[in-house]
Formats: sequence, structure tokens, C-alpha cells
Amino acid sequence: MLDAKCPVCEKRARVLDDMSRVVCDHCGYEDEYDAYIERMKDRIYSIVDEFMMDRQGC
Ligand SMILES: [Zn+2]
Repeated sequence: MLDAKCPVCEKRARVLDDMSRVVCDHCGYEDEYDAYIERMKDRIYSIVDEFMMDRQGC
């Protein structure tokens, strides 16, 4: 069983054995694996955006 980070509650979520879905037992998040990857990508980009805005404030 693979582990993934839940994009909702930041706790550990499970990746189903066939890699089809990501399920979080903590908050009930569940989504297709591809959708999960896209969501995590969006999170990374938004973190970078915030970092760049912080830098511009100097
Ligand atoms: Zn969760």
C-alpha cells in the first residue's frame, strides 16, 4: 500500500493498490489518482507563487 499526503488535511492518505484512487481515512477525501496529482501540482505552484510574492516585498 502506497502512502500519499492528503491535500485537504495534510495527513497520510492511502493510494489504492491499482493506483486508481487516493483515499484519506482522516477527513474522508477521496479522488482519482490523476486528479490527486493535479491537485498536488497546483499546491506546489501556489506555494511557489507565495514565495515569490514574499521575495518581492523585500
Ligand atoms: Zn485528509
